[in-house]
Amino acid sequence: MAEQDKRTALIHHPYRAPAGFDSPVVPVAKGSTVFFPNVAALRERTWVDRSAYTYGLHGTPTSFTLEERLATLEGGTHCLLVSSGLAAVTLVGIALLASGDQVLLPDNGYGPNKTFGRHELARWGIAQGLYDAMSPGSLAAALTPATKLVWLEAPGSVTLEFPDLRGLVRMVRERAPQAVLALDNTWGAGLAFDAFDLGEGQGVDVTIHALTKYPSGGGDVLMGSVTCRDEALYETLALSRSRIGHGVGANDVEAVLRSLPSMPLRYAAQDQAGRAFAAWCATRPEFVRVLHPALPSSPGHAHWLSHCRAAAGLVTVEIDPRFTESQADAFVDALRLFRIGWSWAGPVSLVASYRSASIRGLATPYTGTLVRFCLGLEAVDDLIADGTQALAALGA
Ligand SMILES: *Cc1c(COP(=O)(O)O)cnc(C)c1O
Repeated sequence: MAEQDKRTALIHHPYRAPAGFDSPVVPVAKGSTVFFPNVAALRERTWVDRSAYTYGLHGTPTSFTLEERLATLEGGTHCLLVSSGLAAVTLVGIALLASGDQVLLPDNGYGPNKTFGRHELARWGIAQGLYDAMSPGSLAAALTPATKLVWLEAPGSVTLEFPDLRGLVRMVRERAPQAVLALDNTWGAGLAFDAFDLGEGQGVDVTIHALTKYPSGGGDVLMGSVTCRDEALYETLALSRSRIGHGVGANDVEAVLRSLPSMPLRYAAQDQAGRAFAAWCATRPEFVRVLHPALPSSPGHAHWLSHCRAAAGLVTVEIDPRFTESQADAFVDALRLFRIGWSWAGPVSLVASYRSASIRGLATPYTGTLVRFCLGLEAVDDLIADGTQALAALGA
């Protein structure tokens, strides 16, 4: 062959770096295209069992590595990455439900899961039912032969009631054995309790995890995962993911891989801060309810005790309804260290305000404004001082 033009040589360069570079950091493998040595390999390779690479969308050494580590964290055997926590929620529904089926959700669960059901699933002829996670009879009454998917969440998304997970799982196994049990494991994060092994032989089939929260820990990445233990279920989910086209960016995967080893330490620190902050909230007459599963007065405390060894750093208070909504908003606006924003589990403490009626479909005991605090990594005494100074704005 004639000597190559430099433009060509820069692309088809013969140098290959030696294999065997080993360091604490997982290399960032990038690529939409993956080269095949020949046409036979192009036809035969499969990514579904993770035995080979076919296209960047279906897995790289970096994404397979994060999936394996997350499967270990969750106590599952197979994990799939998707582009956000919400994408993990919707992948489960899209992969497992068909027209005529019913999906059941806890009324205190993650709001966008309910919204997805009301819009997309409803258009596809899939019915959504809500149940009260703190009332087993409510779930029993909602189960039908058409129930194919039951979501669990522990604790509830804003109001943090902790359900009897084992009891709810047992009931679904007995009365609706055709249903897949899925749990949104973002709060427990694989650390507070074992979703696949809840004790007494009970466990869920699928977990989703908003990696955006604890696994990322930085407030800078959006990603989600779906984990299961069953091979056939994994294949159903994996093929659905590939047909929908969910991808994750290699740099984001690397950011999560880098944060994952410190996650148990961050979780423990935010757990400690959350308990201290909740204890302070409980001394304040402006808050009529303090919701945190480790507080004996919080709904489902006994279930939390019997399922969990830790708690996430979230605390919700119900502002005394004698204060107006604008007074409650003035309190949140007056916070300086707690920044107003969605999400949690990063270094910066966050706060969000909810109208209690707007987040529930079924009856709710809450009437005042609900304020959710997400403890970051600041010194908790400073956060308590911030709360104390902001209460002046409540006009108490
Ligand atoms: C944040 C969150 C999600 C969604 O995660 P995103 O990455 O923001 O889409 C799902 N479930 C729970 C419980 C969450 O807190």
